[in-house]
Amino acid sequence: MKLYNTLTKKQEVLKPIQPPQVTMYNCGPTVYQFPHIGNWRSFLIADLLRRSLDYLGYQTKQVMNITDVGHLTSDADSGQDKIELEAEKEKKSAQEIAEFYFQAFLEDGRQLNVQMPHVIPRASEHIAEMIKLIQRLEKKGYTYQTSDGIYFDTSKFKQYGRLSGQKPEQKKAGARIELSIEKKNPTDFALWKFSPKNIQRQQEWFSPWGTGFPGWHIECSVLSQKYLGQPFDIHTGGVDHIGVHHENEIAQSEAAYNKPLANYWVHVEFLQLKKIKMAKSSGGVITIKDLIEKGYNPLAYRLFVFSAHYQSKQSFSWSAMDQAQRNLNKIYQTANRLRDCSHQTKNKSKLDLATYRRNFKKHLQNNLDTPQMMATLFNLLTEVNQLIDKKKLNRSEAQKALKTLLEWDQVLGIKIEETINRARSLPREVQKLIQEREKKRRAKKWKEADQLRQKIQKLGYKIEDTDQGTKARLI
Ligand code: AMP
Ligand code: ZN
Repeated sequence: MKLYNTLTKKQEVLKPIQPPQVTMYNCGPTVYQFPHIGNWRSFLIADLLRRSLDYLGYQTKQVMNITDVGHLTSDADSGQDKIELEAEKEKKSAQEIAEFYFQAFLEDGRQLNVQMPHVIPRASEHIAEMIKLIQRLEKKGYTYQTSDGIYFDTSKFKQYGRLSGQKPEQKKAGARIELSIEKKNPTDFALWKFSPKNIQRQQEWFSPWGTGFPGWHIECSVLSQKYLGQPFDIHTGGVDHIGVHHENEIAQSEAAYNKPLANYWVHVEFLQLKKIKMAKSSGGVITIKDLIEKGYNPLAYRLFVFSAHYQSKQSFSWSAMDQAQRNLNKIYQTANRLRDCSHQTKNKSKLDLATYRRNFKKHLQNNLDTPQMMATLFNLLTEVNQLIDKKKLNRSEAQKALKTLLEWDQVLGIKIEETINRARSLPREVQKLIQEREKKRRAKKWKEADQLRQKIQKLGYKIEDTDQGTKARLI
């Protein structure tokens, strides 16, 4: 498997530390609102990566943190805590907010058929470990105290900036980092923040330095080390994390333990809406619930995401979403046709499945080249549909092609098998309507029969009258 490694700025062949195991850490959601489909682009690529590694015979161990404390509205360690702010707005406790949006995140994940990470630790449940790590850094001389917290002195960590390739001086120019008067360097960041004197925080803990809460970055250093060890194999996140969050994770972990944090850093580009990054702050976010309410199958969003390479910016549009839904329907339809293909002949068609299979795997191993994987899939669909139309595909070939689709679905995660099984056992309602329609047809009541056909179609099934009687298949 080749992956683009942000750390070395080139594609590299994955060499796991302890094959066949691959250890992977994904920066997870901050649970203070419904995740939007841009967030889901990043998590779906993490899911795709895990599925791909498992498909290639590795055993992936995946950890994703849940940020339920300490993520401030500004990357510069200022502003309000996002969760506490939302709690104020919704008149709920911070804990209720975190729990509610964590459950919403899990529900979206189920709708999108995301394999849940093996461990999903919450930041708030690991405060003691975070304090220990900060103490370790303090002992090694990497920290200093200001009036509002304990900070990491980035000038003491010589490799600071290696991931983004930016020198600390260059970062100074970056508009996002406001220089707090007490910070020694603009890139220094909070490890522990003190509770403000005049405001009672809902989430705060005692620490050797004073009551407060952890900085955002420290949780990832603690959780990855605790559940995967250090170094681990692959670290993922959105490209917005490269310059600050991941740089800081590396500084903390590597300064504390004198070894690399992770060997491969994989970053997902942004999903854009009208040429700007989809984000709550820029307005116009779309959620998975919105897609479902508009009548899309959420699994079509997986196909939408796979239509672009993860390292390219991707623009969301409803017409592209329509196309993704049509593509999903086509996959399901073809899978059903392959299942039903009963053409008996010893003559083989020219279908070269082995080449399709080789190509799909080759593209997958080539830094998750999803557009090419999808092209291979749709070329196969077109070819088998043509062969079925011409009655040139025999049953055994059809079964093999279907098996290939099901195998690929281990990577794509669009529930092809479930759809076929669903079509096999028609819902009672559909069965009843089909029987009624048969009766009408026998009585030559064509108009009524046609109305029943339309009813069946509304339920998502298409009727076909064949030599062996009426058949229904999922649209
Ligand atoms: P957050 O909950 O803000 O920490 O974000 C969760 C994940 O979504 C992070 O890995 C972000 O980098 C990623 N993310 C945020 N906005 C977008 C976007 N518009 N497109 C793709 N990924 C995003
Ligand atoms: Zn992180």
